[in-house]
Amino acid sequence: MDQARQELYLREMEISSWQVRMPAADPVEPPSAAAPVVLPEAVKDSGAKTKAQSLPEVVPVEPQPTADIDTADWPVLEAAVTACKRCALHSSRSRAVFGVGSQQAELMVIGEAPGADEDAQGEPFVGRAGQLLNEMLSAIGLPRQQVYITNMLKSRPPNNRNPQEAEIKACMPYLQRQIALVKPKVIICVGRVAASTLLERDESLSQLRLEQHQLPGTSIPLRVTYHPAYLLRSPSDKAKAWADMKLLRQLLVATD
Ligand code: SF4
Repeated sequence: MDQARQELYLREMEISSWQVRMPAADPVEPPSAAAPVVLPEAVKDSGAKTKAQSLPEVVPVEPQPTADIDTADWPVLEAAVTACKRCALHSSRSRAVFGVGSQQAELMVIGEAPGADEDAQGEPFVGRAGQLLNEMLSAIGLPRQQVYITNMLKSRPPNNRNPQEAEIKACMPYLQRQIALVKPKVIICVGRVAASTLLERDESLSQLRLEQHQLPGTSIPLRVTYHPAYLLRSPSDKAKAWADMKLLRQLLVATD
């Protein structure tokens, strides 16, 4: 990408290159975004380190054998998500939000769960947060269409509350299969909930983003950065996100 074009994207992100610096303090986290990939036992058995919150009513769920998901191709997988009733979120969503982008992408972006815009449109990372994500990707020379973008949960939690343990456990096989099908060279988790769940780490996002990780059970490098919805509320952290994106670009080049 030429310098002028990058500067344009950075201006749209409200970032000047001279602003880039390392973080000084932990941010307040935003509320709430082949062979089967094997995620840690603790993810399968006890879910993420998220705050349990009870639903106002008991909603029937319909378990689907994970073996069917583990071998699904793209059309079968998307149809399964669209019709999914594996957790109670099926009753409150407008529609399931599967994922979007290149199925041969080198980079996979994983957020937490759909928000209101995504629930309405059926596509992850739309609205203002999606626009900012697009700008972050464009700043490192990656159009949205060249990346695969999805969320850990495919249905919106009511009022954007944090995902519950049972919901994460029910939905994780879909993400595992998406990762197995895309076979990304690199994964970036946006936001603490997705990062801490996939990495089984309790540290703050400020700490997690300083390390290069590996998706447990795989050899896929994984980096962490801020959720664009958080950056919209805390624009002073955009410079840190830009630093993360530059490290991500270096990692992608190194894995070529
Ligand atoms: S969140 Fe996942 S497991 Fe729950 S209903 Fe939606 S697609 Fe199914």
